[in-house]
Amino acid sequence: MSTLSTRVTNMATSATLAMAAKARELRAEGKDIIGLSLGEPDFNTPDFIKDAAIQAVNDNYNSYTPVDGYAELKDAIITKFKRDNNLSYNTSQIVVSTGAKQSLANVALVSLNPGDEVILPCPYWVSYSDIVKIAEGVPVEVKTSIDTDFKMTPEQLEAAITPKTKMLWYSSPCNPSGSVYSKEELRALADVLAKYPDIIVVSDEIYEHINYVGGHASMAQFPDMYDRTVTVNGVSKAFAMTGWRVGYIGAPTTIARACNKMQGQITSGTNCIAQRAVITALEADPSVVQYMIDEFKSRRTLILNLLNDIPGFKCNEPDGAFYVFPDVTAFFGKTLNGVTINNASDFALYILEQANVATVTGDAFGNGNSIRISYAASVENIKEACARIKEAVS
Ligand code: PMP
Ligand code: GLU
Repeated sequence: MSTLSTRVTNMATSATLAMAAKARELRAEGKDIIGLSLGEPDFNTPDFIKDAAIQAVNDNYNSYTPVDGYAELKDAIITKFKRDNNLSYNTSQIVVSTGAKQSLANVALVSLNPGDEVILPCPYWVSYSDIVKIAEGVPVEVKTSIDTDFKMTPEQLEAAITPKTKMLWYSSPCNPSGSVYSKEELRALADVLAKYPDIIVVSDEIYEHINYVGGHASMAQFPDMYDRTVTVNGVSKAFAMTGWRVGYIGAPTTIARACNKMQGQITSGTNCIAQRAVITALEADPSVVQYMIDEFKSRRTLILNLLNDIPGFKCNEPDGAFYVFPDVTAFFGKTLNGVTINNASDFALYILEQANVATVTGDAFGNGNSIRISYAASVENIKEACARIKEAVS
């Protein structure tokens, strides 16, 4: 009998985390690696949030919390959903988890039976596919391309639906493409779903505030979608709190209660100090983080200019998040410095080894024509990384 379960042996390692670990390893060996692989803001958590955490420690918040989060935090989430998204949830519809990653895993584990299909417009965030598989669901990839700004059309959605379709999962702004679905585009997808009332939608809105075109749209805003949409969000990106591990959902009560039950057997409530700090973060006006968004926006312009100047790179213009997802197919079949590039993984490895720049292959996101570059990095590192890539591919 083998030591490990087929569940874990069949599972892919998170490519984003693996690349970040590889970059760390190479740095420890003395290499000057620029890490553009991990999607994490390079800002400090704002002081007013840190102060709330310190206060919570001093106020002796140290006990287990309610599994689904402190009542005050759930109230702050309800207020946030109303204020920012015009979504009305009550307290039994909110579940706080150890990052949006756990929120997504909870939803998969409580919704999917073996063989249930989950439609994933590609490119999708790296963990969607494996979370679905852990829950014994079947990911159904819908291919999009740079020519349609990496967005799924209503026709593509319709074509992907089968009697086994249980869910649709997407992120907007999208990790990794940065694409943002407008209200009209979401409505057009909802019009298709109107014919299939049992399909549940997971709308991952964790990059909501990192939006350069404005007008964030939630699927749950449509009355006919509200009762079957799970809205996922968290503080990792907007408040530079990746390590604090707080994410949450607003969901139909049946799903929220089931997530609470699932989480109660796996992790319990997330960290008490982090929860107290997040109350303060969510109660603040979103304009408190505008300086980060302004900075990401100017870095986006910078990196697009620099990458578009490299022959062979074809970039979409991301409307949100902090990634570019350039198509690098122009390099496939070419031999650079004695190394033959056959696919996006070869290309990502090539620039890691030749340019000491860590990115992530698009294969991990269900699109093997691109690589993902995170520009949540300093201007200096972005400039140096692009110069090195240019040199390595010229
Ligand atoms: N969804 C998307 C689209 C993401 O990029 C991430 C990245 N961290 C997550 C969910 C998970 O976020 P966290 O667990 O840090 O809240
Ligand atoms: N979501 C980030 C990324 O895509 C963090 C890493 C992860 O959780 O996978 O890079």
